[in-house]
Amino acid sequence: MQITLYDTTLRDGTQREGLSLSVEDKLKIALDLDQLGVHYIEGGWPGSNPKDAELFTRIRGAPLRQARIAAFGSTRRAEVRCENDPSLRALVAAETPVVTLVGKSSPLHVDRVLETSRAENLRMIGDSVAFFQRLDREVIFDAEHFFDGWALDPEYALATLRAAADAGASWIVLCDTNGGSLPDPIRDVVRCVRERIATPLGIHPHNDAGVAVANALAAVQAGCTQVQGTINGYGERCGNVDLVPVIANLQLKLGRNVLPPSQLRRLTEVSHFVAAVANLNPDAHAPYVGRSAFAHKGGIHVAAIAKLPESYQHVDPALVGNEFRVVISEVAGRRNVRLRAEALGLDPGAGEAGVLQRIKDLEHQGFQFEAADGSFEMLLRRAAPGYLPPFEPLDFTVISEKRGGQRVAAQATVKLRVGDEVMHTAAEGDGPVNALDRALRKALVPHYPELDEVRLVDYKVRIVDEHLGTAARPRVILESARGTERWSTVGCSENIIEASWLALWDSLELPLLRNGARLPGPAPTPPG
Ligand SMILES: [Zn+2]
Repeated sequence: MQITLYDTTLRDGTQREGLSLSVEDKLKIALDLDQLGVHYIEGGWPGSNPKDAELFTRIRGAPLRQARIAAFGSTRRAEVRCENDPSLRALVAAETPVVTLVGKSSPLHVDRVLETSRAENLRMIGDSVAFFQRLDREVIFDAEHFFDGWALDPEYALATLRAAADAGASWIVLCDTNGGSLPDPIRDVVRCVRERIATPLGIHPHNDAGVAVANALAAVQAGCTQVQGTINGYGERCGNVDLVPVIANLQLKLGRNVLPPSQLRRLTEVSHFVAAVANLNPDAHAPYVGRSAFAHKGGIHVAAIAKLPESYQHVDPALVGNEFRVVISEVAGRRNVRLRAEALGLDPGAGEAGVLQRIKDLEHQGFQFEAADGSFEMLLRRAAPGYLPPFEPLDFTVISEKRGGQRVAAQATVKLRVGDEVMHTAAEGDGPVNALDRALRKALVPHYPELDEVRLVDYKVRIVDEHLGTAARPRVILESARGTERWSTVGCSENIIEASWLALWDSLELPLLRNGARLPGPAPTPPG
């Protein structure tokens, strides 16, 4: 059976603290979700936000393949005609093919929040749905607080659904607005509603009890055929239901049709793309699509998976566009190194034992490669025959200075060699690491302009004192990005600046080697 996806990342998703999307961002995400095969995309709430009104104007000219765009708003106010309700007028002006109306299904909210009569609330639902029906819009009715309302007064909660169904809504969506419901009651209530309402049903769960995905699956098994949620589970408080595992579970575990298999393989890419546009780090441990979702650390697992892939993984990661990964650590055996090298298209050959020894030595000094795949790749590349460093850092100086009431100023100078040329550069920065990064780039970008696209996206420091006999040492992990490509590098030293320097070095050398950098000739002389 086909399950319809309704994405509300652009509206409910942006309720997440710290998440904000520009109109441009929203357009990019909408186009990508359309490509993925999401059936309905909710663009926003035009009555509440002028930015959303602009989105609806721009999306009318966008080359969508199949998705239907929905605008969201609430039913008309009490004792107001639909024609005169500003929020409904904004929905009319949005000119979307679909209008999603949220209405109250809980008597508690009608009595105490809306402060109107229960009969008037039913008229508000019926009138508003009928209003958009007459304008030839498809109307989806979101029954707010439906499960809480059902617990208080099931007859009234059902009456709100009937008001929407009788007025011509194409979908009735049951919302677990406070996100506190559990799967068993959700399944029972959906079954009861299914027997009484003929209109197709949807589910809109929130994750406050940590079981939103389970609630969505239970609702589908009980008869809902639409799931409303967000990519990566973004949303207010603990988030909306995460459509990513919902899609994968429905399709791979429950045998429902959600997306064509070729599109299912884009799931990891889409999840990471939406995170990148939202400027959030993708959750490495997210089911199905996290970087660690199919990563194995133990040598026994790795040996078993090499023989029989399904022995330690619940599905083939390729089905959702993810990959099996071997985590590098002290416990890793030689096979791990070989598998990683092969995945990178490198042949450590006779260097394999040397790389393994080097990892052990560095880990003893406090380095850690599990979260630093970029530095691990650098170990392999530096050990590979024919390796030529695109540059060689020689010296650095960093000064941090605070005078009087001024803010701290940081300055760095670096000396490095590119080919036959030795260069000195200096730069200021917000802090010592930022100054070092700028000074390094200042020296390198004239030779390697592609480094201009490399961004530092995260900087983490941890104090390591796991090794007896060594003083506590800071370990720095840097995350860098170029487009959607990401890599992490590590440095460790008693001196935090040196630790950062080592991680920066790897982070800038790696993209050059991946590009197949050749040593450049002398830098072009700047004009003038
Ligand atoms: Zn919601």
